[in-house]
Order: sequence, then C-alpha cells, then structure tokens
Amino acid sequence: MPERWSHRTDVLIVGAGLAGLYASLEAAARGARVTLVTKGSLQSSNSFMAQGGIAAAVADDDDPALHAADTLAVGRGIADPAAVEVLVRDGIRRVADLERLGVEWDRDEAGRPELAREGGHSRNRIFHAGGAATGAAIARALIVRVLADERVRVVEHAAAIGLLGGGEACAGAWVLGHDELVPVRARMTLLATGGAGALYARTTNPAGATGDGIALAQRSGARVRHMEFVQFHPTAVAAGGRAFLVSEAVRGEGAHLVSADGERFMPAEHPDAELAPRDVVTRVLQARLERGEASFLSLRHLDPDHVQGRFPSLVEGCAGLDIDLCRDPVPVAPAAHYLMGGIATDLDGATSLAGLYASGESACTGAHGANRLASNSLLECFVFAHRAVHAGLDAPTMDAPDGPAPERPLARARLPELRRRMWEDAGPVRDRDGLEGLLAWLDGQPESNPVRVATLIASAALERRESRGAHLRRDFPDLDPTLEGAEPCAAASSTT
Ligand SMILES: Cc1cc2nc3c(=O)[nH]c(=O)nc-3n(C[C@H](O)[C@H](O)[C@H](O)COP(=O)(O)OP(=O)(O)OC[C@H]3O[C@@H](n4cnc5c(N)ncnc54)[C@H](O)[C@@H]3O)c2cc1C
Repeated sequence: MPERWSHRTDVLIVGAGLAGLYASLEAAARGARVTLVTKGSLQSSNSFMAQGGIAAAVADDDDPALHAADTLAVGRGIADPAAVEVLVRDGIRRVADLERLGVEWDRDEAGRPELAREGGHSRNRIFHAGGAATGAAIARALIVRVLADERVRVVEHAAAIGLLGGGEACAGAWVLGHDELVPVRARMTLLATGGAGALYARTTNPAGATGDGIALAQRSGARVRHMEFVQFHPTAVAAGGRAFLVSEAVRGEGAHLVSADGERFMPAEHPDAELAPRDVVTRVLQARLERGEASFLSLRHLDPDHVQGRFPSLVEGCAGLDIDLCRDPVPVAPAAHYLMGGIATDLDGATSLAGLYASGESACTGAHGANRLASNSLLECFVFAHRAVHAGLDAPTMDAPDGPAPERPLARARLPELRRRMWEDAGPVRDRDGLEGLLAWLDGQPESNPVRVATLIASAALERRESRGAHLRRDFPDLDPTLEGAEPCAAASSTT
C-alpha cells in the first residue's frame, strides 16, 4: 500500500472514472478528506475510452427542454422526467465547470466550442475534445487536479470487495490491495465503479467493467433496478479480436450505413436514417446479421482531410485493424456498450442504504429509461456525482458497525464462458428459453461479482415480457403500453 494510505477518511470514492474523479475534486473543494480507490490505474476506465462527447443544450437554437424531450423520447416511456430535468439543467453548469477545470473543447473558426450532432438529438449539442477522444481529454485534465490536491489520497490497484456496515447503513468498504484487506471507514461512500459491458463476449468496454459496485451494493441489501436494459452500440467494428467503437459522431458528420452492395438501408427504416436513436439502428443491424447480411459504415463520400482532422483517434484505431476509415467500407455490428440499470438512487445519488451513494454508470437514476441518448452518460457522471457529494456531506453522520469481513478472494468466475453465454442468451435479442437456460447455468456457478450481476441482468430480462428500447424479446416483440410510466426516482428499501 502507498505511504499516504489511511484507514479512515471523510469520503471514500470507489472508482476513478469521470464520476469518481469529479466527485473527489468536488468533495475536496468542500474541505473533506477524500480517499479515491481504483482497482486499475487512473487511466483504465470506460471514461478514458469515451469518444463522441458530452451533451448540453447551449446553442442559440437549443433549449434544455428540447434536450429533455429528446432524452425522454429515446428512453421509451420509462425515463424518469424528474431525473431528466435535473440532468439537462444541471448539465449546463457542469459542462461549464469542466472548462474551468482545464478541459479544452474542440472549437470552430470563431473560437466557440464546436457542437456536434449524434443519433436521437434534435439539435447540435455535443461538446467534444481531441476529435473523438473526449473521455481521455476530460480525464487527463481532472487527474492533474486530483493528483495536485493534498486532500485527495489516490490508491491505485486496490479493489473494494465488500461494504462496511450492516443492515440499513454503509460505513465504508473493505479494500483489497497488494494482498492486504483493509477496512476503510468513511462517513460517506460513493460507488463510481462503472458498468458491466465486460460481461459480454462482444463489447466496447475494457475488461474491468464487470459491474463490481452493483454486486457489492446489492449483496449488502441496496436496491438495484432496470438491469435488463443493456445498450448495444450498433457500430462497433466487426473485425479483429475486439469491438473497436466507431463513434456515432461519425454518422453525425454524414457517414452512411450501407450493405455489401454499397446501398444505404437506414432511410427506409427511420425518418432520421443513420441518426435514428441507438436502439433503432441496433435492431436494424441485428436483424440484418440474423439474415446473414453484413453492414458497413461508409465515409467515402466525405472529405478525407475533414475526416482525418475531425477523428484522428478513430482513423488510427481503424488503421490498427487494417481499415482505412476514409476509404474502406468499415464492417460494423452491435456490441455491449452501456448499462442503463444499476444501483437505484434518488436525485441526489443516495441509495437505499444510509451513507452509501452511487454515481455514473454504476447508478440508475432513471434518467435513461430503456435506452440512453448518446452523450448523456458523461453528463450524468458530473451532474449526479456533484449532487451526491453535496448531499452526502450535508447528511448527518451516523454510526454503523463494520459487519463481517468478506471472504477473499471471491471465487473467480469462468469469465470466457459467462461472456459467451451472456452474449447468446442475454444479448441484443433474448427469449424465455435462452434466459432460463442462462439462469440455470449461473445458478450452478460459485458466487462472484460477474455471476451476481449477470444473474441480475438475466432475471430482469426474463421478467420483462415485452420489447422496449434496448431490451428486445424474440418471444414478446411488441412494447406493452401497460408497463409504461416512469418509476419515480427514489431509493426504496427493498432489493430486486
Ligand atoms: C468506447 C466507449 C465510448 C464511449 N463514448 C461515450 C461518449 O462519447 N459520450 C458519453 O456520454 N458516453 C460514452 N461512453 C460511456 C461512458 O464512457 C461511460 O458511461 C462513463 O465513462 C462511465 O463513467 P464512470 O465514472 O461511471 O465509470 P468508469 O469510467 O467505467 O470507471 C469505473 C472505475 O471504477 C473502477 N472500479 C471498478 N470496480 C472497482 C472495484 N471493485 N474497486 C475499485 N475500483 C473499481 C475502475 O477501475 C474505474 O476506475 C463510452 C463508452 C465506451 C466504452
């Protein structure tokens, strides 16, 4: 353990993606002592890989009400209007904060931030940096600040493996680093452990995205919800061993989706063609796949100098797969990308356990409903981490017993098989037989975070007998309007 390691702190933040980094700075600015633990390095997170950008309604022709309407429309009837309202209104202030913290947006010739368009957005409202390297640009700026702040203790390569506290409250976490299991006590614990895309064989996420925080919280009795809603991004490269993402921003700049014959197929599917919401494009590509028809992104009709200048990291990533992004048709297919569900929180990031907060992709505020609007997830990280820190520091301190230490290490899951089965049976298309078979297999596996989170996803998917947003049931292909109506954004005390 590093020298600065301590076992007691004001605020324990688990996870150093954008939600955790920003929360650390915000808590430190309030004078709190912060311990930030991450199981990898500060540079290993989904956040670091984020490409297209962050949405905020600041353009002259835009309005937060329009941003909210777009978010609710793609949320397919179950996004929580109150959470959406907070997201789009607080979001404008949080994007301004980022600029103050040193983030440099890409700018137009007049020096104004260049605002891009992505699927499901009715206006150009996506701030971006480094072309399509927005996550890394923001993270680097925040990491500089975090490392310079004496009130923040950063502990890398240390994993939270259990929560301290018993019953109704959380008093910190058990942290395992370099084979030493340490109880880190805190008056406020924030889980910012990200999503669970790495539970799927085909994913845009890094290997560490195994939903740890969701498993820890749920194991301690916190409520989780909307776990059936896993977003599958339509345009991950279908070549090479990994699902390299080609951002939706590329379609925002005019890229086409074409068949092997070079024919565009999206105009016949949706009035917004390639800029239809993500769930629509994914369903079209998935249906084509099942008919044996490949799909390609084509940028050949765009100015190659513009493509090179606007998307240098994507040109480079594709070149690594022997694909010339400007000239070649890029084979694409859906890949697991984002978890709309997670640890249930209220509008201040509070979970159903006192002292425990969650932000970013590990949390479910209800703002995304059944399908997340592009570039709303980075926004969510800042908006709800900010609210959580202030709510947590304003809450009365409480005493909770440590509770028993977790067993360590938790059994290692058979990840390659779990990922294959999750893709086949809880992937872009699901049905009862597949989900029941998957659950039976999971039931026979030793307890671990991946097994627990996979079980939460599969059982929620089995329970939802309809198709809605990112959740597509072969045996219930239609949306069931009787299941409509947002679940209010409140952290109830029951566990699902
Ligand atoms: C390729 C790609 C492109 C994307 N592009 C965009 C985009 O353009 N716009 C947008 O809005 N969204 C985008 N997203 C989604 C977005 O990046 C994520 O939703 C967001 O970054 C999540 O941030 P986070 O802080 O919640 O979690 P993460 O960034 O995933 O960070 C999680 C952190 O928790 C740590 N951790 C996990 N478990 C433990 C544990 N047990 N103990 C200690 N630490 C732990 C991890 O090491 C990591 O530091 C993209 C995602 C991907 C994969």
